[in-house]
Amino acid sequence: MIISPIQEAFIVAKNIQLDLLRLDMVHPQISGNKWFKLKYNIEFAISNQFESVLSFGGAYSNHLHALAFAGKKFGINSIGIIRGEEVSNPTLEDCKKWGMQLKFISRSEYKQKSESDFIRDLQKKFPSSFIIPEGGGNALGVKGCQEILDEIDSSIYDSIAVSVGTNTTLEGIVSKLLPHQHAMGFIPMKGVEQMKNDLSKKITPKNLTLISDYHFGGFGKYNQEVLDFIVEFKENYQIELDLVYTSKMMFGIFDLIKSDYYKKGTRILAIHTGGVQGNRSLKEHLF
Ligand SMILES: *Cc1c(COP(=O)(O)O)cnc(C)c1O
Repeated sequence: MIISPIQEAFIVAKNIQLDLLRLDMVHPQISGNKWFKLKYNIEFAISNQFESVLSFGGAYSNHLHALAFAGKKFGINSIGIIRGEEVSNPTLEDCKKWGMQLKFISRSEYKQKSESDFIRDLQKKFPSSFIIPEGGGNALGVKGCQEILDEIDSSIYDSIAVSVGTNTTLEGIVSKLLPHQHAMGFIPMKGVEQMKNDLSKKITPKNLTLISDYHFGGFGKYNQEVLDFIVEFKENYQIELDLVYTSKMMFGIFDLIKSDYYKKGTRILAIHTGGVQGNRSLKEHLF
């Protein structure tokens, strides 16, 4: 796997160094953290002779988009269970083009996606499918994410920032932190107390801070401020951020630097987890 070089000395302001790990460059289709979460899942499904991989997501899901492409690339069928009424958009068009079978279910049904009865019924309907939880959030997903920092010398960083959805990526990162390092999880949605509780059962919060101030109204929500930020960021650094996750994280980091949150001399590595495919449906508002 090729990871492009990080942007060295991306920003040096107020004696803070901020570098960006460009997981968005890992692969043109299976971009960002999704490849790391899927690789061991796909490998497991294939080596255990499953006929297909099945997973869940919203209509703009980066996870399903990556799964559909990975399925095609590695020769295993894919099934996407999609939240809400049937729609069409560039994300889902790609999924179909790559051979994913799409199944739309109501939002209320979708809420049960992790419950054992629901999974049992689904497994009956798709007996030879390997079921991957939403966002690739299982142990195999975490295992893949433990390799994210392997390709670079991450030991020089004090603070590692990542945007969180299911926490799978964050869990992988936190498990590989060195004693002098600290992780910051930027939460792009409201109602984070539950998430904080769930997370505190899994990882020791000692070297982790969850930042929940930059949700911009909730998951997938945005305002002019964040849209302007994406446009400016692209102008200044020639790097596209996605609207759901990485833009909110970078906005947050910039804001925290401005307000002297970080100690002088801090070296920050922010992880660009990809997801820019989702911007296509909103392109007319952006560039
Ligand atoms: C899915 C996704 C995340 C969240 O990753 P989790 O492992 O689910 O926490 C972050 N950033 C982007 C761009 C994503 O697509």
